[in-house]
Amino acid sequence: MDSEKLLGQLPAHAFNLEHEGSGSADIVIVNTCGFIQDAKEESIDTILELVEARKAGEVGQVLVTGCLSQRYMEELKMEIPEVDAWFGVHEPGDIVEYLKVNHHDKQDARLLSTPSHFAYLKIAEGCDRTCSFCAIPMIRGSYVSVAIEELVSEAEMLSAKGVKELIVIAQDISYYGVDISGKPMLAELLRALCNIDGIEWIRLHYAYPNHFSDETIRLMASEPKICKYLDIPLQHINDDLLKSMRRGHNRENIFALLSALRNQIPDLALRTTMMVGYPGETREMFQELMDFVAEVRFDRLGVFTYSPEEGTRAYELGDPVAEELKKERARDIMELQESISLEINQSKVGKTFKVLIDREEVDYFVGRTEYDSPEVDNEVLIKKEGPLVPGQFARVLVTAADAFELFATWDGDSL
Ligand code: SF4
Repeated sequence: MDSEKLLGQLPAHAFNLEHEGSGSADIVIVNTCGFIQDAKEESIDTILELVEARKAGEVGQVLVTGCLSQRYMEELKMEIPEVDAWFGVHEPGDIVEYLKVNHHDKQDARLLSTPSHFAYLKIAEGCDRTCSFCAIPMIRGSYVSVAIEELVSEAEMLSAKGVKELIVIAQDISYYGVDISGKPMLAELLRALCNIDGIEWIRLHYAYPNHFSDETIRLMASEPKICKYLDIPLQHINDDLLKSMRRGHNRENIFALLSALRNQIPDLALRTTMMVGYPGETREMFQELMDFVAEVRFDRLGVFTYSPEEGTRAYELGDPVAEELKKERARDIMELQESISLEINQSKVGKTFKVLIDREEVDYFVGRTEYDSPEVDNEVLIKKEGPLVPGQFARVLVTAADAFELFATWDGDSL
């Protein structure tokens, strides 16, 4: 989203843009992530590669922005002096300024880096939670909701450009509106977005278990435009660890929320993220997490290994779980999840689903059901037949499945 805002400003100033393009460029802008160790390493590798390309004359200037740059700017400037300029978060305007152009009335312009039929709608910036392991509030600041009117007009603009699926994101969508009115306003926002013509799917990413209101659950159950899909990172289930993580809820609260969701939205697809190797995670605590995953049977699950982040409260606890053990636990949990995902996917064989076609490959059209988000979830590979085109909805019959993909045939219906 930050990249898209920036990308939107630059063409307004006569820059030609390529997203993740290859080959030569006059200016390369790297948007970095500083959230966890893996992302930091990937960002630094990318910067170093580009600095080499700059030395070889393949690119002109290298600019770096984003979380990592914000957090470690002084150190990075010393370590990688070949970078032409460093920027923090929330600074697309400064980059444009740096490039010596005016941006007076073009600040809200936005160029989509996603296929034109889906787009991300960032509803807030920052985070007010106090998770002990997380550097995001330090980097991105306190929670600031974008006003409903502003989001509706952005979504209308996206719809006019052909967007059919809105992917609503924030570090914590559950908290939306609390900074404005003192109470959660996610349901109100979603109702307003559902009224926009042309938007057919609205997908929710990153719900925090606290503040996820009954009103939102009821709306998800009754409103056909809201995908029966929720990405709710839970991190762990052991009470002692949840307390040390300062998550503000416990095992009982999590089970209560999951059962409210599943009771009211029976076909809901749940995605979550877990963390293994947090300081103090014993074998028994990890087993409790495995049992939880086996019992709840999430549709999708990702896992991080804990990495100590300077400046966070958990940093003071050290990093006592050996790296090898963390990796082993991550592997164990993913193996368990793979067998669950396979069973869930196989239960879809013989059923028909509405899919949104994302792209065309040599042998298949590739689409997604409402239960799958782009980039992270299942794809549906649809045998190439019929007049399907990317960006179109179609009804397909699932004929086979593995743990990560569904295989389907078009059933003759374009929607
Ligand atoms: S809710 Fe997410 S972004 Fe906010 S502090 Fe916790 S882990 Fe970090």
